[in-house]
Amino acid sequence: MKKVFLKKGREKSLLRFHPWVFSGAVEHMDDDIEIGETIEIYSNHKKLLGIGAYSPHSQIRLRVWSFDKSVIDENFFKTKIEGAVSFRKSIIDETKYNSYRIINSESDSIPGLIVDKYDDILVCQFVSAGSERWKQKITEILIDELDPRAIYERSDAEVRNKEGLKPASGLLFGKLDEFEIKIMENNISFYVNIQTGHKTGFYLDQRINRKILQKYSKNKNVLNCFSYTGGFGVSAAAAGAVHVTNLDTSEEALQIASRNFELNNIGPEKFTNKKTDVFKELRSLKNDNIKFDLIILDPPKFVEGKSSLNKAARGYKDINMLAMQLLKNDGVLFTFSCSGLMTPELFNKIIADAAVDAKINASVVERLWQSPDHRVSTNFPESLYLKGLILKRE
Ligand code: SAH
Repeated sequence: MKKVFLKKGREKSLLRFHPWVFSGAVEHMDDDIEIGETIEIYSNHKKLLGIGAYSPHSQIRLRVWSFDKSVIDENFFKTKIEGAVSFRKSIIDETKYNSYRIINSESDSIPGLIVDKYDDILVCQFVSAGSERWKQKITEILIDELDPRAIYERSDAEVRNKEGLKPASGLLFGKLDEFEIKIMENNISFYVNIQTGHKTGFYLDQRINRKILQKYSKNKNVLNCFSYTGGFGVSAAAAGAVHVTNLDTSEEALQIASRNFELNNIGPEKFTNKKTDVFKELRSLKNDNIKFDLIILDPPKFVEGKSSLNKAARGYKDINMLAMQLLKNDGVLFTFSCSGLMTPELFNKIIADAAVDAKINASVVERLWQSPDHRVSTNFPESLYLKGLILKRE
């Protein structure tokens, strides 16, 4: 096996079992290492630190498969995947949920691999040179382990460019007559388009939060901002909300949202879908003095890099301040940030500042996170990205 040696002192993160080595940490390496090739990683003192995959084009030059001398072969991935699947089966009630994340990349010790299960179909993202190299074998293991009807690849995430890989999507296994499928979550059905939908098709990370929302929904007038295909809105209506207004800029997402209400026998009098920019719409609702009992703010990732953090913080504060002003007394706000670079502490501070500017008294009732199938390894805190608060206006 080829070898790479790190600069003096640059072994620290690997000694803490963090799976990344940045390009600047590499001192020298063997010649002609191929993209994604499995290599041994040594400290400057020639101590073996682990075995990983080489990625010549990425700032993240090495991603560690194992921190010992394990053989990286089909069996290695089989063991990891078996463990990931049996953990999900142990925490998810499959009589109510048939769709959830099976493999969460670094946090399941398979850097660069996402596998989401949508009923009997698997949707995968191979976003690192190493996972790409093992694609065929991983596909075979998934077929053996989970017996899916089809496996569809959605490796069209932008991070592939950084790895020097072209986007790739399409069927890896099986047959599909159409790309829109029906899933079940908490006894609610949703249409999901695995070919054109966001991420792998649906925001599975919000699974448990949609269930928590139901406790707050009965008899409520709900404003669902950044609704996508209506995940939160349909959940609220199914739990007895009087009316739901969904706001999103995507016509396609809103059309699916309408069909998701119908699919769950929720009549057209119970919901309104509006194609609009949330920033503008919140202002116009405020001008018209329209108020709501329950508001959901689940915006897309505003923070793309450290340089955009300040601008993003202003965006979060703005929509949260406006939403707070649209809450009736005793109203409840579900507010989220899915930007990994936004820490929970900073998010709390922004929400507190927004409440000051909105001139309201509010309390935090519950704190929310990504669903547990999107588990976070203690060695890889970067995979915690979704955080939320439930606020009650006094
Ligand atoms: N809450 C959703 C996921 C939201 S994803 C769920 O649980 O499924 C973010 C959504 O915001 C996307 O659907 C995107 O189309 C929409 N969006 C992005 N910018 C927007 C804006 N300025 N105004 C309204 N919608 C926007």
